[in-house]
Amino acid sequence: MNNTIAAISTPHGIGGIAVVRLSGPDARTIASRHVSLPPQAGTARFTPFRIGDTLLDEVVVTLFLAPHSYTGQDTVEISCHGSLYIQQTLLQSLIDSGARLAEPGEFTRQAFLSGRLNLSQAEAVADLIDSTNAASHRLAVSQLRGGYAKELEQLRQQLIDLTALLELELDFSDEDVEFADRSQLLSLVSQTSTRVNALRESFHMGNALKRGIPVAIIGRPNAGKSSLLNALLRDNRAIVSDIPGTTRDTIEETFVINGTPFRIIDTAGLRHSDDPIETLGIKRTIETVVQADIILYVHDATQPFVQALDDLQELQDIRSFDGKHLFIVHNKIDLLQENPTAPYRTFPISAKKGLGLDALTEALDKAARTDLAHAPDVMLTNVRHYEALGHVDQALLHVAKGLTTGLPADLVVIDLRDALHHLGTITGQVTTDEVLGTIFSRFCIGK
Ligand code: GDP
Repeated sequence: MNNTIAAISTPHGIGGIAVVRLSGPDARTIASRHVSLPPQAGTARFTPFRIGDTLLDEVVVTLFLAPHSYTGQDTVEISCHGSLYIQQTLLQSLIDSGARLAEPGEFTRQAFLSGRLNLSQAEAVADLIDSTNAASHRLAVSQLRGGYAKELEQLRQQLIDLTALLELELDFSDEDVEFADRSQLLSLVSQTSTRVNALRESFHMGNALKRGIPVAIIGRPNAGKSSLLNALLRDNRAIVSDIPGTTRDTIEETFVINGTPFRIIDTAGLRHSDDPIETLGIKRTIETVVQADIILYVHDATQPFVQALDDLQELQDIRSFDGKHLFIVHNKIDLLQENPTAPYRTFPISAKKGLGLDALTEALDKAARTDLAHAPDVMLTNVRHYEALGHVDQALLHVAKGLTTGLPADLVVIDLRDALHHLGTITGQVTTDEVLGTIFSRFCIGK
C-alpha cells in the first residue's frame, strides 16, 4: 500500500493560484524529483517545477516535517499557478513519481490517525469548511478548539475516575472491603448524568444554529406565502457552498440575518399554492408548526381578518404555539387604501412590492437573539454525538441503579465501561472503519 497521498486542495476551477498537497513518508523525495531547490522546513522556496526536462511552472514549495503538520506526517504543499492544466499535470506527475491520489477527507483522516485531532474535531473541520454564516462558524470553532472539546474531555475524565474508584475495590475484592463510599459515587454519577443531559438538551439550539433556525410560513392558499419566502430570500440570501463533497443532505431554503441562519421548513408545501382546498389544511400545517421555532402566519389583507383569527384560534387550541414565536403578517397592503387594523401586533407588508420587510426582518433577528440569550456556551450540533450521548445516559442510569441496589462492583464497572465506550465513539477512542468511512466521505478530496 502506497502511503504517500496527493491531491489538489484548492477548489476545482481556475484561480490565481492552486495548492497541491502531498503527505506521507515519501513526500519530500517525490517533490524533490520535480523541483530544483529541495523542500526545506520553515522556508517557502520559489523554484521551477519540472517534469523530466520540461518546465511546467514556477512554484512555491513549503515543507512541514512530521509531526508538525496538519496530517502529522511529512507534508509538502506546492503552490502553483491556478490553471486547470497546470494543476492536473502537476498532480499527475506526483502520482507518476510514486504518490497515490488521496481519497475524500484522507488528509484529515490521517490527522485523526496520527492523533493530531480527535474524531469530533475532525468532524468540526468539515463543519468549518461548510460554515456559511457567523453562527455555524462559531459552533464549528468551538467544536474544533473550544468549550465543546473540553467538556467531552472532562466528562471522560469523570467516568475514568469513577471506574478507577470501583476497580480499586475489585483489586482487593478478596478482602471484602468497600473503598468507595456508595453515596459519594452515586452523587458523582448524578453529576455526570446532569452534564450529559445538559449537552443533549443543547442539541435543539445547536442544530438550529448550524442548519438554520426553523421557520414555518403558514396561511391560506394565495395569501402570499411563496411570495414572502422569495422576498426574504432575495434580501437575505445565504451563501451556499457548492464544493463537491460539502453539500448537505437536502437543499433547503436558508437566509441569513445578522449572521444568524434561518431555515424555511416545508418549502415543498409552499410551492403548491394552487391547492383547491380553501382551508388552512390544518393537519399539514400542524406538522410544519411543530418543527418550527418561529411561525409566520401570512394573511391576505384584502380578505376579512376573521379568517386569520379562526385559523390561529384553531392552532392555539391544540397548543401549537407553545414556546414558539408567532408573527402575524398582513400581506398585499399595496392593494389597500389604508393600513389594516387587528387586535394583535401584526406586520403589514407587501411581499410583491417589497414593503414592510425591514420591520419583519428586524423582528426575526430579535426573536433569534432572545432565544440565543438563553443558549448555553457549549452546544451539541452533531446528530451522531447526540445519539452516542443518549447511550452514555442509558449506561449511567444502569450504573446508578446498580449502586443503589448494591450490585457488586465488577458488574457496576461493566456499565461504566459501556458509558466510556459510547463517549469514546464521539472523540474516536472507539471507532470502526464503517464509522470513519461515513464521516470522512463527507469531506471533499484534498481536505
Ligand atoms: P401562496 O399560495 O400563499 O404561496 O401565495 P403566492 O405567494 O403564490 O401568491 C398568490 C398570489 O398573490 C400571486 O398571484 C401573487 O403574485 C399575489 N401576491 C403575493 N403577494 C402579493 C402582494 O404583496 N401584493 C399583491 N398585489 N399581490 C401579491
